[in-house]
Amino acid sequence: MFNLTYLLLSLIVLINGEYYESCIKPNHITLSFDDGIHKNTQGLVDVLNNYGIKAIFFINGLHIVRNNDFETVVKQMNIDGHTIGSHTFSHEAMEKLNGFNVMRELYDNELIFRELFNVRPRYFRAPYFSYNDEIYNTITYNFGYDFIGTNVMPPDWTGISAQEIVDFMVNKLVTESTTGKITLQHDKMINNIEALEMFIEYGMANNYTFVSLAECLGHTTSYIEDNKYGPNLNTGININ
Ligand SMILES: [Zn+2]
Repeated sequence: MFNLTYLLLSLIVLINGEYYESCIKPNHITLSFDDGIHKNTQGLVDVLNNYGIKAIFFINGLHIVRNNDFETVVKQMNIDGHTIGSHTFSHEAMEKLNGFNVMRELYDNELIFRELFNVRPRYFRAPYFSYNDEIYNTITYNFGYDFIGTNVMPPDWTGISAQEIVDFMVNKLVTESTTGKITLQHDKMINNIEALEMFIEYGMANNYTFVSLAECLGHTTSYIEDNKYGPNLNTGININ
């Protein structure tokens, strides 16, 4: 059954996603946050909104299913102009899953996007950057997502201070100044709220521009329009 599903999806999708980890312009920075929605997410959004900066949040739909308040948060983030990307449904390391369950992780998160926004996600990041060639092809070819890496990833999960997070990020700007930046921080690390404000202040004072991921990559859209292409949930295929 899985092979049949895979074959059918392969026939439906016509447009491939691509891999990106930096902005086109060296003075551009896109801020991205993984693993939300979390109770700290609103604090990050408040800082971003204060500065009028649009970021991207790679979310796990499981959190929204488990907490009704987070549905309100993510809807308002969308209204505020932030982009929502897919980080799979439940944050499993995909290399440890069989092909069927890789598909489920992607599909189940899509259902959240369809239900909340009537779109498919365009931007995807793999939990733990755990993937192989087959998983990469499923994501970019079968689902048509763009696969988003990072070139500024402070080790915030180790519990370092806001100042240490900012120092790490600023050092990347200084030492790798010819490349536009896509940063990666985690919603659940509380120090990121203070670090975000400090990093934005540094960037603005040093002629960097904070842009949406679409602008960073030269894209005109941040989502795949519902049913335009890609896995079609109305084909009668039952992936459960
Ligand atoms: Zn993650």
